[in-house]
Amino acid sequence: MKNRLILLDNGHGIETAGKRSPILQDGSQLFEYEFNRDIVRRIAKALDKEQIDYVILVPELKDVSLAERVKRANAHHAKCGKHTCLISVHSNAGGGTGFEVFTSVGQTKSDEFAQIMFDAFKKEFPEQKMRSDRVDGDDDKESNFYILKNTNCPAMLTESFFMDHLQDLKILMSEYGRSRIAKAHVEAIKKIIKL
Ligand SMILES: [Zn+2]
Repeated sequence: MKNRLILLDNGHGIETAGKRSPILQDGSQLFEYEFNRDIVRRIAKALDKEQIDYVILVPELKDVSLAERVKRANAHHAKCGKHTCLISVHSNAGGGTGFEVFTSVGQTKSDEFAQIMFDAFKKEFPEQKMRSDRVDGDDDKESNFYILKNTNCPAMLTESFFMDHLQDLKILMSEYGRSRIAKAHVEAIKKIIKL
């Protein structure tokens, strides 16, 4: 096993209000908790094959508070005796299109890892919009999201496409789209664990 533990966080729970797409004409709808869990499950399956150590921080279907997620992440970080990296998997909403990745504010190891994730998505989805913030010289966006600010290890939060954008939603709801989203995460993780 390689010397970095990947902490996979799937955001939100089955009962989380909002966090869902509009209902499509055929009656189908995307729920973010389901998408996040499916992507994390796909990543985990690939990491098994690659013999990369990982933990799924929220095996539950219900929503687990951010404080509890951070507590779990920091406990794994403290006891595993390895470098760690947390990846929180989400899908976006609020009017927009494309992919973006967040780190905490300020330059840390997280920025280096998030750039690798950004580049992996750019490679996997050359036809899609990559949303970046180049003010500080890299492509990640920075925010004081609780989980990014309070974890003791490098951490990033991926926002794969927009649930409320019809073209993006097609990617999010398709088998092909989901396999590509998982693949981009895995390609990035394979590079990150070598650092
Ligand atoms: Zn989310």
